[in-house]
Amino acid sequence: KKLNNLKALISLGQGVDHILKDNIIDQYIPVVRIVDPFMAKSMSHWVILSVLNFIRDTFGYYNQQKNKIYKPRKEINFTTLKIAVYGIGAIGSVVAKDLKQLGFKVEGWSRSQKHISGINCYYGKNKFKDMLKTCDIHVCLLPLTTETNNIFNNSSFQIMKKGSCFINAGRGEQVIEEHLIEKCMSGHISSAILDVYRSEPLLENSNLWEQKNIKIWPHVAAETNPETAAKQIANAIKCIENGKKPPNTIKRRLGY
Ligand code: NAP
Repeated sequence: KKLNNLKALISLGQGVDHILKDNIIDQYIPVVRIVDPFMAKSMSHWVILSVLNFIRDTFGYYNQQKNKIYKPRKEINFTTLKIAVYGIGAIGSVVAKDLKQLGFKVEGWSRSQKHISGINCYYGKNKFKDMLKTCDIHVCLLPLTTETNNIFNNSSFQIMKKGSCFINAGRGEQVIEEHLIEKCMSGHISSAILDVYRSEPLLENSNLWEQKNIKIWPHVAAETNPETAAKQIANAIKCIENGKKPPNTIKRRLGY
C-alpha cells in the first residue's frame, strides 16, 4: 500500500494467492506470474512418484524390510484405475498428459471446457462430483481462489471410493485437514500425499505428522527455477517499461 509508484507485481511462483490474499493490490496494477515448463515437468515427476508409490505400495514394502518380511503385497490393477487431475492448466495439463503416457486412464477438471488429446476433460460442479465418485486417485493442482477454498472437505472425501488415494500440490487451504485426517484414520482414504498445508511451515503440533497413511512433503513438488524464471521476470519488466501487457498477467476477476 505504501508503494505509490508501483507499476506491477511479479510473483516468483506460478501461484498468486499470496499476493491477492489481503486485497491490498489495486485492481489496475498488473499481477504477473511465472509459467515455467521446468516447473510443470518437475510437478509431473512428483505426481508420478506419488502415484507409483501408491500403486506399488512402496511404503508397505519398506515396512516389511524393517521386519525382514519377504512376501508379495496386494497388487493394484493399474489398467482399471482412473486418475482425476483437478486443475488442468499450465501444470495440470502436463501432469495429465504424462500420466496418460504411462498408460493410466486420466480425467481432468477445469473451470472452462478444455480439450486435451487422450484425456477426458470435464468442467462444472456436477462433473467434479462425478470424478470424485468414479476415480481412484485424486490429484489437486488447482489455484487457490474463493471457489476452490475448502473444496476437499468431509463431503467431497465421502463421495470418493473407499480406498482412494488423495494427492495435493495445489494449496493447503483447499483441504480441510481435520476432515482428511478423519477419513485417513477410518481407512476411507487409504493414502494421502501432501506438499502444501493451511499453515506453512507445517506446525509442529499438526496432527498430520502422526498419520501413518499421510506422507508429508515440505512444499517442494515444483520449485521455481531461477534460470528460467529470471528470463520471464526480465521480459515482464521490459514489457511494463514499454507500456505493453506482459505475458502471463493474471485475470484479477478470476483470482488466478
Ligand atoms: P493455471 O495455469 O492457472 O491452471 C489452473 C487450472 O485450474 C485451470 O485448468 C483452471 O481452469 C482450473 N481452475 C481454476 N479455478 C477453478 C474452479 N473454480 N473450478 C475448476 N477448475 C478451476 O495454474 P498452474 O500454473 O497450473 O498452477 C496451479 C496451481 O498449482 C498454482 O496456483 C499453485 O497453487 C500450485 N503450485 C504448486 C506448486 C508446489 O510446489 N506445490 C508449484 C507450482 C504451483 P481453466 O483452465 O478453465 O482456467
